[in-house]
Amino acid sequence: MAIVTSGFEARPLYSEAGALTDDTILALLSGKGPDEALFAEADRIRREVYGDAVYLRGLIEFTNYCRNDCYYCGIRKGNRNLSRYRLDKETILGCCREGYALGYRTFVLQGGEDPYFADTQADSNDGTVSDGDRRSQTATGVSAT
Ligand code: SF4
Repeated sequence: MAIVTSGFEARPLYSEAGALTDDTILALLSGKGPDEALFAEADRIRREVYGDAVYLRGLIEFTNYCRNDCYYCGIRKGNRNLSRYRLDKETILGCCREGYALGYRTFVLQGGEDPYFADTQADSNDGTVSDGDRRSQTATGVSAT
């Protein structure tokens, strides 16, 4: 259980079971959250897991089709001034190979909400490509998320 005191009254962020306490959840949802305490706790966990190393992720934008129309977004469906593309699996894996050679060990597949990529399209049964809800890791230690 973490007790954080900096800039906020001392109180546990987590219950004995490791979940956020009701008080903490209520404070966060009300916008009166213990920002400093929360940031300090996030930093503590980050140090515990990653130390001071910087991990770079290879971002692969595999489709710029999207069924939504968020006005601020350049790839929204209503934008007619855009050349649309989808990468096939081999191209995605080629990007991963190139990234691996450059030292990347985690790849993030990002794209619009493209109905073309249903689970069966985005997820291969050899564990090399995963959809946005799951993570896969190959025997080489490379992750895709
Ligand atoms: S890509 Fe994301 S932000 Fe852009 S239009 Fe689609 S849903 Fe909205």
